[in-house]
Amino acid sequence: MCSQKQIDELSRIRGQLLIQMQELGKKDLNCVGCAAPCCTFHHNSMRITLTEGIVLVNYLHSQAIDLTDIAEKCHATIQEYRLDKELFIKSGVRLRRHYTCFFFTNRELGCSIPAEYKPLGCLAFNPTEPSGKGQTCRSMSYPEFCDGEKLEIPQMLLKVLQNFSGVL
Ligand code: SF4
Ligand code: SF4
Repeated sequence: MCSQKQIDELSRIRGQLLIQMQELGKKDLNCVGCAAPCCTFHHNSMRITLTEGIVLVNYLHSQAIDLTDIAEKCHATIQEYRLDKELFIKSGVRLRRHYTCFFFTNRELGCSIPAEYKPLGCLAFNPTEPSGKGQTCRSMSYPEFCDGEKLEIPQMLLKVLQNFSGVL
């Protein structure tokens, strides 16, 4: 479904982002104490590429996480936030819908996905001031990962799961 070249490119960009995040951490720009509106319907409209979805599903599989349960959560999120309803803001441009990501656990634990497998857009979104608690966060610039159409996380995961064989 995706090439090794794309997976390598994704890893390269991820590595750059992780270094940028380390630099932010040295300036106390972190998510400590934030209720993470960026992961809930308040602000989350994350969309991912196919390769990001494949890497994420492979991670879940490697952890023996029940993929049937993941598929059910995808369906539930799509239904709750009507992610399957195509809304266009102009010709060919889909409206981004907000939804609560089911990988978000709670305020204390935050995202349940390790940085090595998290979507690039999630890694790129960071605070711009210490103790900002989500009020002044924005996305860092990073190289674009070109990999076709992006979809909201639950939709892309379902697409991957429909073709998942357990190996890349
Ligand atoms: S994958 Fe993690 S960081 Fe990204 S939206 Fe979901 S819970 Fe938040
Ligand atoms: S990126 Fe911003 S909004 Fe998201 S958890 Fe961190 S501080 Fe909160």
